[in-house]
Amino acid sequence: MEYIIGVGTNIDRENKISFAVKRLREEFKVVSISSVYETSPYGYQNQPNFYNMAVKIRSELAPENLLSKLQRIEKEAGRERKMKWGPRSLDLDIILWEGGNFRSENLTIPHYDIKNRVFFLIPLLEIEGDIELDGGNLSHLANRLLPYQSIRKVDFSLL
Ligand code: ATP
Ligand code: MG
Ligand code: MG
Repeated sequence: MEYIIGVGTNIDRENKISFAVKRLREEFKVVSISSVYETSPYGYQNQPNFYNMAVKIRSELAPENLLSKLQRIEKEAGRERKMKWGPRSLDLDIILWEGGNFRSENLTIPHYDIKNRVFFLIPLLEIEGDIELDGGNLSHLANRLLPYQSIRKVDFSLL
């Protein structure tokens, strides 16, 4: 199964973004990887800017098992859950997968808020092209939000 993971960090972000890519490469087959983007905070504004990117992986794991594994990697990176949408060392969200819609108590794919977040839409556009989501294609959805959410590509080399 192919999945697209949204990676986000705003604590020790250079190290955490590199760590995330390294761990994803160790655990899964990485199919493609977007640029790294600097983005303004979403929701709660009084916190540092984020680095965000998207990574497409291939895995035999079912969605729930993949989520557990991603949460383990977040923990390794020192993730603490103190405040919803607050500063975090690493957030690994499942944005999309090959299987269409998935819903359980712990997991909704596509990510429930995908359409409202430039930091998901733009890296996704880079990886997948201008695919159609429920509600419009990626570029249309992103263009609607760009006046309100800032995003810029970072010159950051992931070795
Ligand atoms: P948001 O989900 O709004 O981006 P967040 O990423 O900060 O917020 P977390 O604390 O990382 O939230 O996760 C809260 C819960 O969200 C997780 O325990 C998980 O069960 C649930 N969840 C639901 N759908 C997804 C998804 N597509 N990817 C990751 N987690 C999900
Ligand atoms: Mg998140
Ligand atoms: Mg999360």
